[in-house]
Amino acid sequence: MGERGERLAFGVRTAPVRGRNAGVEMKVMERVAECRAALEAERAAGRTVGLVPTMGALHDAHASLVSRAVAAGDAVCVSVFVNPLQFGPAEDLATYPRDLAADVRVAERWGASLVFAPPVEEIYPPGATTRVRVEGLGDVLEGASRPGHFEGVATVVTTLLSIAGPCRVYFGEKDFQQLLVVRRLVADLSLPVEVVACPTVRALDGLALSSRNLHLSGEEREAAAVLLRALQSGAAAILAGERDPGEVRALMGDIVEAEPLVELDYAEVVDASTLAVPEKLDGELRLLVAARVGRVRLIDNLGVRL
Ligand code: AMP
Repeated sequence: MGERGERLAFGVRTAPVRGRNAGVEMKVMERVAECRAALEAERAAGRTVGLVPTMGALHDAHASLVSRAVAAGDAVCVSVFVNPLQFGPAEDLATYPRDLAADVRVAERWGASLVFAPPVEEIYPPGATTRVRVEGLGDVLEGASRPGHFEGVATVVTTLLSIAGPCRVYFGEKDFQQLLVVRRLVADLSLPVEVVACPTVRALDGLALSSRNLHLSGEEREAAAVLLRALQSGAAAILAGERDPGEVRALMGDIVEAEPLVELDYAEVVDASTLAVPEKLDGELRLLVAARVGRVRLIDNLGVRL
C-alpha cells in the first residue's frame, strides 16, 4: 500500500481510503487498461461495480451519487473527465473548473475506492472518429440549444461503459435529458449496465448544485434561484388544473424573464419519457428550464405526475 501520491505504475497512484470503505486502497488511474483491469478484479472478487461518471470539480451532488453506490454495496469508481466532445465551440471547455487533487480527496472521503481520470487522448486516441447519436431524445431541448452536445455525451458514456464492463452507473436527475439519453443508449446497445437515477441536490435557496455555480457572482447566484421558482410555479399551475402546455411554458418564461440578470433559453413542459410536448398535459410530465446567468448557462427541471 502506498502513501497518497506514490506512483506504483504509470498513471496509477494509491492511498488508503477513509470512511465507509475504510481499509480499501484508493486507486487513481489514468489508463483505460488499468481501469478495465481494476474493475474486472472487483467483479472477480465478488463485488458489484458502481460507476459515477463526472466532469470533476466534485460537490455535494456528486457525493450523493457516490453515497448511493456505496449504500448499494458497490466498489465505487468515480470517473473524472472533462469531455471536450460535449462542449460547443463557443462554450466553456477552457474555463470549466478542474482540481483533480481535491476531487480525489473528496471521492476518497465519500467511500469511492477508484478514480479514473484519463487524459483526452486515452478516451479519444488519435484518429478516433466513432460517434454515438441517440436520435429523438438527443435532438430536442438541450440538444437543440447545444448542437452536438448529446452526441458528445452519448459517445463518452458508451466508451466509459465499455471500459467499465458490467456495472451500475449513477446519473443525476438534474441533467434529466442526459439521464434519458443514457437509459436509451444502454437499452439500445444491450449494455450489461443498470442505470440508477439520483434526485437533484439543491442549495438552501433552491439552486441546483453545479460545478458551474462557482463562476456566479453573489448577485447572479441570488438571481439564479429564479429557475426553481419558475419550475415550481409551472408545477403548481398544472396541479391547479392547467392542461395547456403553452400556458405553462409562458408562465415559467415570464417568471424567468422578470429577473434582469437571467436570460431565458427555454422553458418547456414535456412528457417525461419521450420529451415530446403533449397536446394536453397528462401522465408523467417534466418541466425543464435553461437560462444564462452572467457567463454561466444553467439548467434545472422538476417532475409532475397527474
Ligand atoms: P457533472 O460533473 O456535472 O457532469 O455531473 C456528474 C453527475 O452528477 C451527472 O450524473 C449529473 O447529473 C450529476 N449531478 C450534477 N449536479 C447534480 C445535482 N445538483 N443533483 C443531482 N445530480 C447532479
